[in-house]
Amino acid sequence: MRFRTGVCFDDVLLVPRYSEVTSRAHPDLSVEFPEVGRLSLPIISSPMDTITETSMADALVRAGGLGVIHRYNTEAEQVALVSGTDRPSLVGAALGVTGDYHIRACALFEAGVRLLCLDIAHGHHRLMKEALFNLREIFGYNVHLMAGNVATLEGFNALADWGADSVRVGIGGGSICTTRLQTGHGVPTLQSVLDCAGSDRDALLIADGGIRTSGDIVKALAAGADAVMLGSLLSGTTQTPGQVRVDSSGNKFKSYRGMASRSAQVAWRGSSSTPEGVATLVPFRGCVSEVLRDVEGGIRSGLSYSGANSLEELRVKATFIKQTSSGRHESSAHVLSGNGDV
Ligand code: IMP
Repeated sequence: MRFRTGVCFDDVLLVPRYSEVTSRAHPDLSVEFPEVGRLSLPIISSPMDTITETSMADALVRAGGLGVIHRYNTEAEQVALVSGTDRPSLVGAALGVTGDYHIRACALFEAGVRLLCLDIAHGHHRLMKEALFNLREIFGYNVHLMAGNVATLEGFNALADWGADSVRVGIGGGSICTTRLQTGHGVPTLQSVLDCAGSDRDALLIADGGIRTSGDIVKALAAGADAVMLGSLLSGTTQTPGQVRVDSSGNKFKSYRGMASRSAQVAWRGSSSTPEGVATLVPFRGCVSEVLRDVEGGIRSGLSYSGANSLEELRVKATFIKQTSSGRHESSAHVLSGNGDV
């Protein structure tokens, strides 16, 4: 048995540094995604049926990021969702690693997709290896292969060696995830990012799961992520699939669910095995472009605090400090309330 300690986003802060960034507009947040192009915003939306279909993918393209259209549909439905964006070469599409995934991959490629995301819960797996080999054989280097998820450097290197251009890093940290409760397995996402950033492989590192704020994004990028994948932070917006629900008090909600939740499993395959996710309602938040604008502003401000004009500079300059539980309290809004004389 081996034992080690892992840090979560809330366990650390970035230490502010001397800065010559005179405007939040100046830092360059861009990152090159082979076969897709240069993203000007390192944000990718999760391939989940309550997050990314046509509208979200379009919104991400407009914001400079990338949307990955989920795979919980028929091949024809997924191709229609991709085609409905009018720029399929700028969106990603998710696939499984069993059954007819390679036929679906060909249909998506025909429709113009150039980023295929092999999307399974435990990516450090023989089935992933076989699927990556198969897809490379079919498409050569004409597609970007994103793969995941993994939690360790060993897993990251394996997927890179099997042909992945980018690897999703994070197991068990998602806001709707119960993998750690059900299976006892997982690694805090920030720790996984720190570990995988030690890789000498070329694959891009995508931090995925448990990112709640722009501050978490800055920490992930500083720890070595090239981009982040977001579910909850984009949930409840106009561009997510599904209807707005209104309760008797007039409050508006939308659905957000893990793809391994019971309700998602029943919806896409008619029955459910042990769930590793939950389904919930989240408050309706309006247009995702406003959410993304706020998030981008926070990231830009974060780079300024680290004195960094690019993501590369952020990674070099970043110094993390571990905070105590009192520090965590101080780090959140903690205005005195209640009893004092005002
Ligand atoms: P969030 O941004 O914290 O909401 O996490 C979103 C991420 O959770 C996704 O990108 C997936 O990697 C992961 N995920 C999605 N559905 C499930 C699930 O049902 N169980 C565990 N993880 C999930």
